[in-house]
Amino acid sequence: MSGQARGNITIDVEECKGCGLCVESCPPKCLELAPELSSYGVHPARYTGHDCTGCGICFYCCPEPGAIIVYRLAPPPKAVASQVQSGGEHAPTV
Ligand code: SF4
Ligand code: SF4
Repeated sequence: MSGQARGNITIDVEECKGCGLCVESCPPKCLELAPELSSYGVHPARYTGHDCTGCGICFYCCPEPGAIIVYRLAPPPKAVASQVQSGGEHAPTV
């Protein structure tokens, strides 16, 4: 799935124990286990950089407090509604 990201996350590799629960639970599948080993000798989770919705499921399923921080991105401002055209029977005449 692609589209404009609505969220972002950071993962603290020193807190992550590489259990993979967040990877399995992420609905858009935007997490993966890194091929590199952390100082704990595990493969820490990392964000692929695409499609996070900011849903927070990874945060709630992670057993390590502080390993994941979820950010919900503010949506872009909506385009200003096109100017209402004047006219009609109640429009002032000049
Ligand atoms: S916040 Fe949701 S979409 Fe984003 S990485 Fe976590 S589980 Fe996936
Ligand atoms: S759920 Fe937490 S500890 Fe497990 S891999 Fe994901 S970030 Fe690491």
